[in-house]
Amino acid sequence: MKKSIETKLIHAGEPKPRVAGAVAMPIFQSAMFEYAGPEDEVRYIRYSNNPNQLVLQEKLAALENAENAIVTSSGMAAISSALLSVLQPGDHLLAQNCLYGGTHKLATTLLSELGITVDFIDASDPSSWDDALTPRTKAIYVETITNPMIEVGELEAASDFARSHGIVSLIDNTFASPINFRPSEWGFDISIHSATKYLNGHSDIVAGVAIGSDEMISPIRKRVTQLGGSLDPHACYLLHRGLKTLALRVERQNQAATVLAQVLEDHPAVARVNYAGLASSPSHERAARYLDGYGGMLSFEIEGDGVAVTSFMQALEIPVPAPSLGSVETLIVQPAQTSHVSLSPEERAVAGVTDGLVRVSVGIESVDDLVADFVQALDAIPKAAAV
Ligand code: PLP
Repeated sequence: MKKSIETKLIHAGEPKPRVAGAVAMPIFQSAMFEYAGPEDEVRYIRYSNNPNQLVLQEKLAALENAENAIVTSSGMAAISSALLSVLQPGDHLLAQNCLYGGTHKLATTLLSELGITVDFIDASDPSSWDDALTPRTKAIYVETITNPMIEVGELEAASDFARSHGIVSLIDNTFASPINFRPSEWGFDISIHSATKYLNGHSDIVAGVAIGSDEMISPIRKRVTQLGGSLDPHACYLLHRGLKTLALRVERQNQAATVLAQVLEDHPAVARVNYAGLASSPSHERAARYLDGYGGMLSFEIEGDGVAVTSFMQALEIPVPAPSLGSVETLIVQPAQTSHVSLSPEERAVAGVTDGLVRVSVGIESVDDLVADFVQALDAIPKAAAV
Protein backbone atom coordinates (compact mmCIF):
# COMPACT_ATOMS: atom_id res chain seq x y z
CA MET A 1 0.00 0.00 0.00
CA LYS A 2 1.30 3.47 -0.95
CA LYS A 3 1.62 5.52 2.24
CA SER A 4 1.52 9.26 2.74
CA ILE A 5 4.48 11.13 4.23
CA GLU A 6 2.62 11.68 7.54
CA THR A 7 2.30 7.89 7.97
CA LYS A 8 5.88 7.24 6.88
CA LEU A 9 7.18 9.71 9.48
CA ILE A 10 5.69 7.50 12.18
CA HIS A 11 6.12 4.01 10.75
CA ALA A 12 8.71 3.81 7.95
CA GLY A 13 11.89 1.97 8.87
CA GLU A 14 10.69 0.94 12.36
CA PRO A 15 11.97 -2.55 13.23
CA LYS A 16 9.60 -5.48 12.75
CA PRO A 17 9.24 -7.07 15.21
CA ARG A 18 9.86 -4.12 17.53
CA VAL A 19 12.96 -4.47 19.71
CA ALA A 20 11.77 -6.30 22.87
CA GLY A 21 8.31 -4.90 22.04
CA ALA A 22 9.47 -1.33 22.64
CA VAL A 23 7.21 1.13 20.79
CA ALA A 24 9.95 3.79 20.75
CA MET A 25 13.21 2.66 19.17
CA PRO A 26 15.67 2.06 22.04
CA ILE A 27 19.10 3.70 21.97
CA PHE A 28 21.87 1.22 21.10
CA GLN A 29 24.69 3.09 22.80
CA SER A 30 27.28 0.54 21.69
CA ALA A 31 30.27 1.47 19.52
CA MET A 32 30.66 -2.07 18.17
CA PHE A 33 28.73 -5.31 18.02
CA GLU A 34 29.73 -8.97 18.37
CA TYR A 35 31.25 -10.34 15.19
CA ALA A 36 30.07 -13.80 14.19
CA GLY A 37 32.78 -14.60 11.64
CA PRO A 38 33.53 -14.15 7.92
CA GLU A 39 29.84 -14.36 6.93
CA ASP A 40 29.00 -11.44 9.25
CA GLU A 41 29.17 -7.70 8.67
CA VAL A 42 31.46 -5.64 10.89
CA ARG A 43 29.13 -3.35 12.80
CA TYR A 44 30.60 -0.14 14.20
CA ILE A 45 29.13 3.37 14.69
CA ARG A 46 31.60 4.99 12.27
CA TYR A 47 30.39 2.61 9.55
CA SER A 48 26.88 4.03 10.04
CA ASN A 49 25.35 0.57 10.56
CA ASN A 50 24.36 0.79 14.23
CA PRO A 51 20.61 -0.09 14.64
CA ASN A 52 19.71 3.55 15.42
CA GLN A 53 21.45 4.74 12.27
CA LEU A 54 19.88 2.00 10.11
CA VAL A 55 16.31 2.71 11.24
CA LEU A 56 16.73 6.43 10.72
CA GLN A 57 18.31 6.00 7.30
CA GLU A 58 15.44 3.83 6.13
CA LYS A 59 12.86 6.34 7.40
CA LEU A 60 14.63 9.33 5.82
CA ALA A 61 14.97 7.59 2.43
CA ALA A 62 11.26 6.69 2.55
CA LEU A 63 10.24 10.30 3.24
CA GLU A 64 11.78 11.47 -0.03
CA ASN A 65 10.78 8.32 -1.98
CA ALA A 66 14.45 7.46 -2.48
CA GLU A 67 16.32 4.15 -2.13
CA ASN A 68 18.91 5.04 0.45
CA ALA A 69 20.21 7.59 2.96
CA ILE A 70 23.24 8.18 5.17
CA VAL A 71 22.97 10.17 8.40
CA THR A 72 25.94 12.31 9.38
CA SER A 73 27.33 14.23 12.34
CA SER A 74 26.24 17.61 10.86
CA GLY A 75 24.78 19.13 7.73
CA MET A 76 28.29 20.16 6.71
CA ALA A 77 29.48 16.54 7.09
CA ALA A 78 26.77 15.49 4.61
CA ILE A 79 27.61 18.35 2.21
CA SER A 80 31.40 17.82 2.33
CA SER A 81 31.15 14.02 2.05
CA ALA A 82 28.68 14.26 -0.85
CA LEU A 83 30.81 16.78 -2.78
CA LEU A 84 33.99 14.80 -2.11
CA SER A 85 32.30 11.63 -3.37
CA VAL A 86 31.28 13.26 -6.65
CA LEU A 87 34.30 15.49 -7.41
CA GLN A 88 37.95 14.60 -8.09
CA PRO A 89 40.96 16.96 -8.40
CA GLY A 90 40.71 18.72 -11.78
CA ASP A 91 36.89 18.59 -11.81
CA HIS A 92 34.57 21.56 -12.06
CA LEU A 93 31.41 22.37 -10.08
CA LEU A 94 28.51 24.66 -10.99
CA ALA A 95 27.04 26.08 -7.79
CA GLN A 96 24.21 28.48 -7.09
CA ASN A 97 25.48 32.00 -6.40
CA CYS A 98 23.81 32.50 -3.00
CA LEU A 99 24.62 29.28 -1.13
CA TYR A 100 24.62 28.76 2.64
CA GLY A 101 27.84 30.45 3.87
CA GLY A 102 29.48 27.22 5.09
CA THR A 103 28.93 25.54 1.71
CA HIS A 104 30.23 28.61 -0.14
CA LYS A 105 33.38 28.62 2.06
CA LEU A 106 33.92 24.89 1.47
CA ALA A 107 33.63 25.37 -2.30
CA THR A 108 36.00 28.34 -2.40
CA THR A 109 38.61 27.02 0.07
CA LEU A 110 38.90 23.23 0.51
CA LEU A 111 37.62 22.31 -2.95
CA SER A 112 39.86 24.92 -4.54
CA GLU A 113 42.88 23.65 -2.50
CA LEU A 114 42.10 20.18 -3.87
CA GLY A 115 42.21 21.54 -7.45
CA ILE A 116 38.42 21.49 -7.93
CA THR A 117 37.17 24.67 -9.62
CA VAL A 118 33.79 26.28 -9.03
CA ASP A 119 31.67 28.69 -11.05
CA PHE A 120 28.64 30.34 -9.54
CA ILE A 121 25.39 30.46 -11.50
CA ASP A 122 22.05 32.24 -11.29
CA ALA A 123 19.65 29.38 -10.52
CA SER A 124 16.69 31.32 -11.90
CA ASP A 125 18.30 31.75 -15.35
CA PRO A 126 18.95 28.35 -17.02
CA SER A 127 19.89 30.07 -20.30
CA SER A 128 23.14 31.22 -18.63
CA TRP A 129 24.23 27.74 -17.47
CA ASP A 130 25.57 26.42 -20.79
CA ASP A 131 28.21 29.17 -20.91
CA ALA A 132 29.53 28.09 -17.50
CA LEU A 133 29.78 24.39 -18.47
CA THR A 134 33.29 22.99 -19.11
CA PRO A 135 34.44 19.51 -20.25
CA ARG A 136 35.42 18.91 -16.58
CA THR A 137 32.05 19.90 -15.09
CA LYS A 138 30.89 16.99 -12.92
CA ALA A 139 28.05 18.40 -10.84
CA ILE A 140 25.49 21.15 -10.30
CA TYR A 141 24.62 22.20 -6.73
CA VAL A 142 21.57 24.28 -5.76
CA GLU A 143 19.38 24.99 -2.71
CA THR A 144 15.59 24.56 -2.75
CA ILE A 145 14.98 27.87 -0.95
CA THR A 146 17.89 30.29 -0.49
CA ASN A 147 19.10 32.17 2.56
CA PRO A 148 18.34 34.96 3.42
CA MET A 149 16.47 36.22 0.32
CA ILE A 150 14.06 33.20 0.25
CA GLU A 151 14.39 32.63 -3.50
CA VAL A 152 13.44 29.50 -5.44
CA GLY A 153 15.36 28.79 -8.66
CA GLU A 154 14.43 26.76 -11.75
CA LEU A 155 14.73 23.49 -9.83
CA GLU A 156 13.44 21.08 -12.46
CA ALA A 157 15.65 22.74 -15.09
CA ALA A 158 18.67 22.10 -12.83
CA SER A 159 18.07 18.34 -12.59
CA ASP A 160 17.21 18.19 -16.34
CA PHE A 161 20.43 20.06 -17.14
CA ALA A 162 22.44 17.55 -15.08
CA ARG A 163 20.82 14.56 -16.78
CA SER A 164 21.26 15.94 -20.29
CA HIS A 165 24.97 16.67 -19.66
CA GLY A 166 25.72 13.45 -17.77
CA ILE A 167 26.60 15.27 -14.53
CA VAL A 168 25.33 14.82 -10.96
CA SER A 169 22.63 17.11 -9.49
CA LEU A 170 22.78 17.92 -5.76
CA ILE A 171 20.28 19.99 -3.80
CA ASP A 172 20.33 21.28 -0.23
CA ASN A 173 16.69 20.75 0.80
CA THR A 174 17.11 22.02 4.38
CA PHE A 175 14.84 25.10 4.12
CA ALA A 176 11.96 23.21 2.45
CA SER A 177 12.06 19.89 4.36
CA PRO A 178 10.58 16.74 2.73
CA ILE A 179 7.10 18.00 3.63
CA ASN A 180 7.37 20.86 1.12
CA PHE A 181 9.74 19.37 -1.49
CA ARG A 182 11.04 15.89 -2.30
CA PRO A 183 14.04 16.24 -4.65
CA SER A 184 14.00 12.67 -6.04
CA GLU A 185 10.48 13.32 -7.42
CA TRP A 186 11.97 16.19 -9.46
CA GLY A 187 14.91 14.17 -10.78
CA PHE A 188 17.66 15.23 -8.37
CA ASP A 189 20.41 12.68 -7.72
CA ILE A 190 21.38 13.70 -4.18
CA SER A 191 19.29 15.56 -1.59
CA ILE A 192 21.07 16.94 1.46
CA HIS A 193 19.71 18.33 4.73
CA SER A 194 21.11 19.96 7.77
CA ALA A 195 18.96 17.74 10.02
CA THR A 196 19.87 20.22 12.80
CA LYS A 197 16.99 22.34 11.42
CA TYR A 198 13.47 21.17 10.45
CA LEU A 199 14.09 17.39 10.49
CA ASN A 200 14.98 17.43 14.18
CA GLY A 201 13.19 20.69 14.96
CA HIS A 202 13.97 21.00 18.66
CA SER A 203 17.26 22.98 18.81
CA ASP A 204 19.07 20.18 20.63
CA ILE A 205 21.33 18.36 18.13
CA VAL A 206 23.55 18.95 15.11
CA ALA A 207 23.07 16.34 12.35
CA GLY A 208 22.86 15.87 8.60
CA VAL A 209 21.66 13.47 5.95
CA ALA A 210 22.27 12.72 2.27
CA ILE A 211 19.45 10.93 0.44
CA GLY A 212 19.42 9.33 -3.02
CA SER A 213 19.77 6.11 -5.00
CA ASP A 214 21.96 3.20 -3.80
CA GLU A 215 24.42 4.16 -6.53
CA MET A 216 24.74 7.76 -5.27
CA ILE A 217 24.70 7.03 -1.52
CA SER A 218 27.23 4.18 -1.52
CA PRO A 219 30.28 6.41 -2.34
CA ILE A 220 29.04 9.07 0.12
CA ARG A 221 28.87 6.36 2.81
CA LYS A 222 32.51 5.49 2.06
CA ARG A 223 33.54 9.14 2.44
CA VAL A 224 31.60 9.50 5.72
CA THR A 225 33.39 6.38 7.02
CA GLN A 226 36.82 7.66 5.90
CA LEU A 227 36.33 11.19 7.20
CA GLY A 228 34.66 10.03 10.43
CA GLY A 229 31.42 11.99 10.03
CA SER A 230 28.96 9.40 11.40
CA LEU A 231 26.06 10.33 13.70
CA ASP A 232 26.14 9.23 17.35
CA PRO A 233 23.26 6.87 18.40
CA HIS A 234 21.97 9.26 21.04
CA ALA A 235 21.71 12.05 18.45
CA CYS A 236 20.04 9.50 16.13
CA TYR A 237 17.45 8.85 18.83
CA LEU A 238 16.69 12.56 19.23
CA LEU A 239 16.48 13.06 15.45
CA HIS A 240 14.21 9.99 15.17
CA ARG A 241 11.93 11.38 17.88
CA GLY A 242 11.88 14.87 16.37
CA LEU A 243 11.05 13.53 12.90
CA LYS A 244 7.76 12.02 14.05
CA THR A 245 6.19 15.49 14.38
CA LEU A 246 7.79 16.95 11.23
CA ALA A 247 4.53 17.15 9.26
CA LEU A 248 2.62 18.79 12.13
CA ARG A 249 5.38 21.30 12.71
CA VAL A 250 6.04 22.22 9.08
CA GLU A 251 2.36 22.48 8.12
CA ARG A 252 1.84 24.88 11.00
CA GLN A 253 5.01 26.83 10.16
CA ASN A 254 3.89 27.09 6.50
CA GLN A 255 0.59 28.62 7.62
CA ALA A 256 2.04 30.92 10.26
CA ALA A 257 4.79 32.25 7.96
CA THR A 258 2.19 33.00 5.25
CA VAL A 259 0.08 35.00 7.73
CA LEU A 260 3.09 36.81 9.21
CA ALA A 261 4.55 37.65 5.77
CA GLN A 262 1.26 39.25 4.71
CA VAL A 263 0.98 41.30 7.92
CA LEU A 264 4.59 42.48 7.55
CA GLU A 265 4.05 43.41 3.89
CA ASP A 266 1.10 45.60 4.89
CA HIS A 267 2.99 47.38 7.71
CA PRO A 268 4.30 50.90 6.95
CA ALA A 269 7.59 50.32 8.83
CA VAL A 270 8.51 47.46 6.47
CA ALA A 271 10.15 48.27 3.12
CA ARG A 272 10.11 44.77 1.61
CA VAL A 273 9.21 41.18 2.55
CA ASN A 274 10.98 38.15 1.04
CA TYR A 275 8.68 35.13 1.14
CA ALA A 276 8.01 32.92 -1.86
CA GLY A 277 4.37 32.52 -0.79
CA LEU A 278 3.68 36.21 -1.44
CA ALA A 279 2.46 37.19 -4.91
CA SER A 280 5.04 40.02 -4.81
CA SER A 281 7.98 37.55 -4.60
CA PRO A 282 9.98 37.13 -7.85
CA SER A 283 10.07 33.40 -6.96
CA HIS A 284 6.33 33.03 -6.38
CA GLU A 285 5.44 31.34 -9.66
CA ARG A 286 8.34 28.85 -9.42
CA ALA A 287 7.64 28.15 -5.74
CA ALA A 288 3.96 27.46 -6.53
CA ARG A 289 5.05 25.00 -9.22
CA TYR A 290 7.57 23.06 -7.13
CA LEU A 291 6.63 23.31 -3.48
CA ASP A 292 3.77 21.77 -1.50
CA GLY A 293 4.11 24.60 1.04
CA TYR A 294 6.13 27.82 1.08
CA GLY A 295 8.00 27.02 4.28
CA GLY A 296 8.57 28.72 7.60
CA MET A 297 11.46 31.00 6.58
CA LEU A 298 11.02 34.65 5.63
CA SER A 299 13.05 37.83 5.70
CA PHE A 300 12.10 41.49 5.61
CA GLU A 301 13.68 44.89 5.47
CA ILE A 302 12.87 47.54 8.03
CA GLU A 303 12.64 51.16 6.82
CA GLY A 304 15.18 53.53 8.32
CA ASP A 305 18.64 53.32 9.87
CA GLY A 306 20.35 50.81 12.19
CA VAL A 307 18.58 52.41 15.18
CA ALA A 308 15.22 51.31 13.75
CA VAL A 309 16.30 47.62 13.53
CA THR A 310 17.88 47.69 16.98
CA SER A 311 14.73 49.19 18.45
CA PHE A 312 12.60 46.52 16.72
CA MET A 313 14.80 43.63 17.86
CA GLN A 314 14.81 44.87 21.45
CA ALA A 315 11.05 45.35 21.55
CA LEU A 316 10.25 41.80 20.40
CA GLU A 317 9.16 39.51 23.22
CA ILE A 318 8.65 36.05 21.68
CA PRO A 319 11.37 35.30 19.07
CA VAL A 320 14.75 34.10 20.28
CA PRO A 321 17.69 35.95 18.68
CA ALA A 322 19.70 32.88 17.62
CA PRO A 323 21.49 31.96 14.38
CA SER A 324 19.72 28.79 13.32
CA LEU A 325 16.33 27.78 11.92
CA GLY A 326 13.66 25.16 11.66
CA SER A 327 12.95 24.88 15.38
CA VAL A 328 9.78 24.97 17.46
CA GLU A 329 10.87 28.40 18.76
CA THR A 330 10.62 31.40 16.44
CA LEU A 331 14.24 32.44 15.80
CA ILE A 332 15.38 35.82 14.48
CA VAL A 333 18.70 37.13 13.13
CA GLN A 334 20.15 40.12 11.31
CA PRO A 335 22.06 38.40 8.47
CA ALA A 336 24.41 41.43 8.03
CA GLN A 337 25.66 40.77 11.58
CA THR A 338 25.62 36.96 11.53
CA SER A 339 25.62 34.71 8.43
CA HIS A 340 26.92 37.46 6.08
CA VAL A 341 29.22 39.34 8.49
CA SER A 342 32.37 38.17 6.66
CA LEU A 343 31.22 39.79 3.38
CA SER A 344 32.25 43.35 2.51
CA PRO A 345 29.45 45.98 2.54
CA GLU A 346 29.61 45.97 -1.30
CA GLU A 347 29.23 42.16 -1.47
CA ARG A 348 26.35 42.35 0.99
CA ALA A 349 24.67 45.01 -1.16
CA VAL A 350 24.91 42.74 -4.24
CA ALA A 351 23.37 39.89 -2.23
CA GLY A 352 20.56 42.21 -1.04
CA VAL A 353 21.69 41.83 2.59
CA THR A 354 21.14 45.35 3.93
CA ASP A 355 21.69 46.38 7.57
CA GLY A 356 17.91 46.59 7.91
CA LEU A 357 17.31 42.99 6.80
CA VAL A 358 15.87 40.64 9.43
CA ARG A 359 15.48 36.87 8.90
CA VAL A 360 12.78 34.95 10.72
CA SER A 361 12.43 31.21 11.23
CA VAL A 362 8.80 30.91 12.26
CA GLY A 363 8.18 28.49 15.14
CA ILE A 364 5.03 26.78 16.35
CA GLU A 365 3.84 29.39 18.86
CA SER A 366 0.32 30.86 18.44
CA VAL A 367 0.31 32.78 15.16
CA ASP A 368 -1.91 35.46 16.76
CA ASP A 369 0.69 36.00 19.49
CA LEU A 370 3.49 36.17 16.93
CA VAL A 371 1.66 38.68 14.75
CA ALA A 372 0.80 40.84 17.78
CA ASP A 373 4.43 40.76 18.93
CA PHE A 374 5.88 41.71 15.52
CA VAL A 375 3.32 44.51 15.08
CA GLN A 376 3.95 46.00 18.55
CA ALA A 377 7.73 45.89 17.97
CA LEU A 378 7.35 47.60 14.55
CA ASP A 379 4.96 50.20 16.00
CA ALA A 380 7.53 50.91 18.75
CA ILE A 381 10.25 52.05 16.28
CA PRO A 382 10.96 55.73 17.08
CA LYS A 383 9.62 57.92 14.24
CA ALA A 384 12.99 59.70 13.78
CA ALA A 385 14.75 56.33 13.15
CA ALA A 386 12.13 55.16 10.66
CA VAL A 387 12.62 57.99 8.14
N1 PLP B 1 22.61 23.99 4.78
C1 PLP B 1 21.88 25.04 5.17
C2 PLP B 1 20.85 25.60 4.24
C3 PLP B 1 22.08 25.61 6.43
O1 PLP B 1 21.35 26.68 6.81
C4 PLP B 1 23.08 25.06 7.29
C5 PLP B 1 23.34 25.62 8.63
O2 PLP B 1 22.86 26.67 8.98
C6 PLP B 1 23.83 23.96 6.83
C7 PLP B 1 23.55 23.44 5.58
C8 PLP B 1 24.90 23.34 7.67
O3 PLP B 1 24.31 22.55 8.64
P1 PLP B 1 25.00 22.12 10.03
O4 PLP B 1 25.13 23.37 10.86
O5 PLP B 1 24.07 21.10 10.58
O6 PLP B 1 26.34 21.56 9.68
